[in-house]
Amino acid sequence: MVFCAFAFLLGLIFGSFLNVCIYRIPEGKSLLYPPSSCPECGESIKWYDNIPVISYLILRGRCRSCGERISPIYPAVELLTGLLTLAVACKFGLSFDTLYYLLLTYYLIVVSFIDLKTMEVPVKLSYFTLVAGLLLSFFTNTHSFKEAVFGASFGGGVILFIIESYFVFTGKEGMGYGDANIMAVIGAFLGWEKVLLTLFLASVLGAVIGLILKKKREAQIPFGPFLSLGAIISLLFGDGIINWYLGGLTP
Ligand SMILES: [Zn+2]
Repeated sequence: MVFCAFAFLLGLIFGSFLNVCIYRIPEGKSLLYPPSSCPECGESIKWYDNIPVISYLILRGRCRSCGERISPIYPAVELLTGLLTLAVACKFGLSFDTLYYLLLTYYLIVVSFIDLKTMEVPVKLSYFTLVAGLLLSFFTNTHSFKEAVFGASFGGGVILFIIESYFVFTGKEGMGYGDANIMAVIGAFLGWEKVLLTLFLASVLGAVIGLILKKKREAQIPFGPFLSLGAIISLLFGDGIINWYLGGLTP
């Protein structure tokens, strides 16, 4: 109980750092320096105005010095990170696995919001998370290094196959290579079974949201956030879903 509350608070603080990543990685800026400032007036943000979620509520979503609106995405990312940290920590307990899967979770949050904002998936970030996912698999209880390598190859390969097939038959690009990178990372952490589950969940979610949005306008929707959402569901509930599905097959 104390552990879970602690995980939630730590998650909120980490969410604050993930905001910095989401904001600065696409611009190629340093993550550590300079400290955060208002994008409108440039005034640096005081520590007491930088408390996750709470500061946003106290300031009623406006900069203290210039009064410009602060995007609600900031507290949303903080809250989301807090809740997902809580969920992962409660599932895996006080263990290395919690850290391992938090790394994946944080990567997925950052990549999703960058993808939503810029329609790009940062290559370096995916590469480093992939390497970390492969190497750190030696220390997890959930899968072996071999399974991580196979999962990553399978994940990346499946998306490349979809990209090429879609191109051959329609002459258009459906998913991007960034999606293949995201799926390789997911495969390294979750293994090939959950790659399939992730892809299935992402396709269903993507189709539903796509139908809703298409009614309004022909907008291009990035697929990264759907893969991420599918991966988070697979991480938290995948074993149950897979067992239920396989159980349904055997009489
Ligand atoms: Zn300002």
